Amino acid sequence: MSAFKKLYNLYSGFTHYRNYRASFLGQSVIIVFMKKRYRTVNDYYREIFGEKIFKLPIDAGFDCPNRDGTVAHGGCTFCTVSGSGDAIVAPEAPIREQFYHEIDFMHRKWPEVQKYLVYFQNFTNTHAPLEVIKERYEQAINEPGVVGINIGTRPDCLPDDVIDYLAELTERMHVTVELGLQTTYEETSELINRAHSYDLYVETVKRVRERAPKAEIVSHLINGLPGETHEMMVENVRRCVTDNDIQGIKLHLLHLMTNTRMQRDYHEGRLKLLSQEEYVSIICDQLEIIPEDIVIHRITGDAPRDMLIGPMWSLNKWEVLNAIDKEMERRDSWQGCKAASEKEEKA
Ligand code: SF4
Repeated sequence: MSAFKKLYNLYSGFTHYRNYRASFLGQSVIIVFMKKRYRTVNDYYREIFGEKIFKLPIDAGFDCPNRDGTVAHGGCTFCTVSGSGDAIVAPEAPIREQFYHEIDFMHRKWPEVQKYLVYFQNFTNTHAPLEVIKERYEQAINEPGVVGINIGTRPDCLPDDVIDYLAELTERMHVTVELGLQTTYEETSELINRAHSYDLYVETVKRVRERAPKAEIVSHLINGLPGETHEMMVENVRRCVTDNDIQGIKLHLLHLMTNTRMQRDYHEGRLKLLSQEEYVSIICDQLEIIPEDIVIHRITGDAPRDMLIGPMWSLNKWEVLNAIDKEMERRDSWQGCKAASEKEEKA
């Protein structure tokens, strides 16, 4: 029996629910959550920081090598004009101002939170000379309460000097490299104009692990890309977690957004959007093969309603999360339950 399952059983012996105290309209209330069958990022951050934290998305004004012609033009076909970061409160403001705008916004809901991760989200946040990168990061990461930095980037944009700077940062704070992969299939990669290979991804993960061993790597994958079957999506996860020493994973649902190149694929019949039932089944199959120590940073997405073409069911995020919980419960499965048996079969 895996350690995760043992812990899960032990925990179930006490309670089926987890309680958090929060304040609502000035009243202290107990919020009850059903426990999860996978290792959530919220639990992980509570483990390492000892309390709830905010992750504050920032647009630091970087471009992307896949858009500005450095490696290709036009960008990934699903990418929006904001570089896959559409939820920032004041993206035009100077970096330090964005940081405080985000805190104000989050404090409306959770006024007690005092620790922050700065998340450089939009576009490719290592696509500049090292001095420029440093200057932009340091505008936010020295502010009171910052305990870490998350950097969204691509595998073709992490030269050694940048990784060495990240290694220096790990001596000051928690560092996470959010490394876009999206698919491990070269034919899909070409279809979506990803403009880097899977081999390069594997090589970059190795370099980051060697040069900045305290930095964590979170891989991003997308479910629902054109031409990918259920089996291919599960295989994407299998390759990602077996070929790479990563500490976390984000599983996104493909959101078809307005003003993207992918809109044309959809209108010309080359793209079929997933149903909620299909998505839930894929996610559960993926969770079952992800080793239990890997942190699950995301299994749904947040798309702005006014830009979303589909799938519209994804707007009901809690319904999707509940459906995933229910399906895991129906199967009596948990994160990594099949990773363990696959390892045994190979041994
Ligand atoms: S790498 Fe990211 S920012 Fe660049 S085009 Fe693709 S999704 Fe957009």
